[in-house]
Amino acid sequence: MKGELLYEGKAKQVFQAESNNDQLVLSYKNDATAFNGEKKAVFSGKGKYNNLISARVFDYLREKGIPSHFVRSLNDSEQLVEKTTIIPVEIVVRNLAAGSITRRLGIEEKTVFTPPLVELFYKQDELGDPLINDEHAMMLADVEQVELKQIKAMALEVNKHLQAFFENINLKLADFKLEFGRNKAGDIILSDEVSPDTCRLWDKDSGAKMDKDVFREDLGDLLQVYNTILQRLEAAV
Ligand code: ADP
Ligand code: UDP
Repeated sequence: MKGELLYEGKAKQVFQAESNNDQLVLSYKNDATAFNGEKKAVFSGKGKYNNLISARVFDYLREKGIPSHFVRSLNDSEQLVEKTTIIPVEIVVRNLAAGSITRRLGIEEKTVFTPPLVELFYKQDELGDPLINDEHAMMLADVEQVELKQIKAMALEVNKHLQAFFENINLKLADFKLEFGRNKAGDIILSDEVSPDTCRLWDKDSGAKMDKDVFREDLGDLLQVYNTILQRLEAAV
C-alpha cells in the first residue's frame, strides 16, 4: 500500500500511495510537539487516537457535503488521502478565546466570539507560523482573494458541523486549525487532520480541557483523554 516516504513532519509521515499516484498514505506518529517544536514527547498509541478520531471527523464532514482529501482508513494509524498541493496558510476558527489570542490581544480565556473569528497564519515553522492578513496570504501563498473568501466560508461551514459533532459527545469546540490544498482537478479541498491535536475541546460538564493543551500545560494523562474522546465517539449514535 505504502510507497516512498515523501515527507516527515512533526505529527505525521507522508508516503506516496503505491497503487495510485494521486493518493498519499498519512501515517500518524506518536510524537507530541508544542510551542513550535520546543516541547516534545512520545506517547505510545497517540497516533492511533488521532488517526481514528480524524477519520471519524472526515467521515462526518463528508456526510455534510464538505469536500476533503480523506479517502478511507487503512489501519489503526494510517489513512489514505487524495494528494493536494497544500496552501501554506493555517486557518484558525475561534468560538471561545484560548491560546495565542488571549496573549496577543489580552482577551480573557473563554470569552465568546459571536460570530466566530477566523484568523490566518503563515505555515512556516522557521518563522513560528506568524499571524497574517489576506494581502500577506495572497503575496506569500499563491492564493487569490476569491479563493480566500471561499476557504474562510468553508472553514465557517466546517465549524458549524464540528460544533454539532463534538456537542454530541459532550464537548465544546473552543477553536481549531484547518489546512486546505488544491487537488489534481484544481479544486480546493480540506486536507491534513482534524483531531484533539488541532482542536481545543472542553468538557461541557466539568470544563476540563480534552485536547493537546493537556500536554502543552501538563494537565494530566494525554492518552487517557484522547482515549475518552474516541470511546465517546464509538458510543455515540
Ligand atoms: P507539519 O508539517 O506541520 O510538521 P505533519 O507532521 O502533520 O505537520 O505533516 C503532515 C504534512 O502533510 C503537513 O505538512 C501537511 O500540510 C501535509 N498534508 C496534509 N494533507 C495533505 C494532502 N492531502 N496532500 C499533501 N500534503 C498534505
Ligand atoms: N493549531 C494547530 N497547529 C498549529 C497552531 C495551532 O493545530 O500549528 C491549533 C491549536 O491546537 C488550537 C488552534 O489551532 O486548537 C488555535 O491555536 P493558537 O493560535 O491559540 O495557538 P497556540 O496557543 O496553540 O500556540
